[in-house]
Amino acid sequence: MIVVLVVALCGGACSGTDDVSVAESTINTTTTGATTTTTSTTTSTTTVSREVSAVNGLGDSFYPYLGNGGYNVLHYEIELDIDPDANTIQALTTITARATQELSEFNLDLSGLTVRGVTVDGAEAEHSRYDNELVVVPVDPLAAGAEFVTEVGYSGSPEPISDPAVSFLELGWHNTEGVIFTASQPSGSMSWFPSNNHPADKATFEIRLTVPEPLTAASNGILVEETSVDGYTTTTWRMDHPMATYLAAVYVGDFERVETDQPDGPLIRDYVPRADSDEIVEALRITPQVIRFYEALLGPYPYDVYGSIVMPFNLGFALENQTLSVHGRGSINPFTVSHEIVHQWIGNSSTLNDWREIWLHEGFATYLSAMYMAEYHGWNLDQRAAEWHRQLADAEPPLEIEITEMFGASVYFIGAVTLHTLRRFVGDSVFAEILRTHYQRSDHANTTTAAFLDVVTELAGREAADLVESWLHEVPVPEPVDPEVE
Ligand SMILES: [Zn+2]
Repeated sequence: MIVVLVVALCGGACSGTDDVSVAESTINTTTTGATTTTTSTTTSTTTVSREVSAVNGLGDSFYPYLGNGGYNVLHYEIELDIDPDANTIQALTTITARATQELSEFNLDLSGLTVRGVTVDGAEAEHSRYDNELVVVPVDPLAAGAEFVTEVGYSGSPEPISDPAVSFLELGWHNTEGVIFTASQPSGSMSWFPSNNHPADKATFEIRLTVPEPLTAASNGILVEETSVDGYTTTTWRMDHPMATYLAAVYVGDFERVETDQPDGPLIRDYVPRADSDEIVEALRITPQVIRFYEALLGPYPYDVYGSIVMPFNLGFALENQTLSVHGRGSINPFTVSHEIVHQWIGNSSTLNDWREIWLHEGFATYLSAMYMAEYHGWNLDQRAAEWHRQLADAEPPLEIEITEMFGASVYFIGAVTLHTLRRFVGDSVFAEILRTHYQRSDHANTTTAAFLDVVTELAGREAADLVESWLHEVPVPEPVDPEVE
């Protein structure tokens, strides 16, 4: 994700100018929302108001109740029959999973909506709900290692939810100004489908959307089927690579699909507001160039397709839904477009295991988009890094943040300065090897800061890894390495 308030930290530079004047913009909010979590800023200890069991959460440092233990999801099939005027859905989500232990019951994460019924392997299962947990009790316990299929039928009016990390927006399903859109990082997907709602458990997806004509529906991955019956259009979307639940997306509105030919590379298809979209289409023309830049840096684009969906209004943020980044119409510039594109490698394919390590997504995406800006839009990275450091020298370092600072400026810009400092310390070619190795060891999987530090140590030595660690943990953050004395 990139937040417009955070983008303000690159000043006019986001549109490619050399102005590095900065707005004070660290986002701080009061913790509210579904989970009550207090996190020490000096240790990784997390205190919660209620015990997390092996069943109702995965023990994430910031979101102890997100996700559920005892099984791994292999595949989601989500069918939504959507009435945009009433903002209601009739829905069926089918989850294929494998038990990692014997299970007499298991949980899914779901907020709001009415569950009509649950089956496990075709047999009706008892279910109950508390908070955002849907508890399912199969007729017979599931054996450790068993693959099982759960069907959840549900309906109602999806409502976005509060999340302590995101003060500027409720998360999940929105229906506004004639558009249905989802924006779910980190917790919001449970507002529209039941899941193991944590990026540590990624799975493949098929999403089927039925909407009234003439509305356009869009979702993740390849559009594999489109049918039209009695005034309703059904589109089926397939994501054959693992995807975190927060990256699953639904958009419904008056959009035009615009495809861009690219001889070598993924299909590019954007969705733009049908009216008055010439300027948007023009601004998105950099997409193939950006993809080629990151392919040279990191390796092949991880998916079959990419594109942006642009809202007919401003959003205040952009978000890297897998293969379908969403932008507000006012935030389409090379910095945000490249930021969401590089997230397809860093964040979507190579995904954190714990939300506390969000710098692995946002610090990397900020620096790698700055590298694109240096290559094609004249940025001076030494100057940028020095300015970001000056602005944020008193901020909490990226791995000492609280949940309310997950999308604050330190994670993005001190995270980026950390990588720039490493680059200046080890040199361009070793730095490129570090980036590529880190990505390729975790593509279509998960990663950690510790795994990144292992790569740094292997390729550049312990001193380089220590330098990174000091930037991630020490207050005040250290002085940047001066490239003049290299
Ligand atoms: Zn981001």
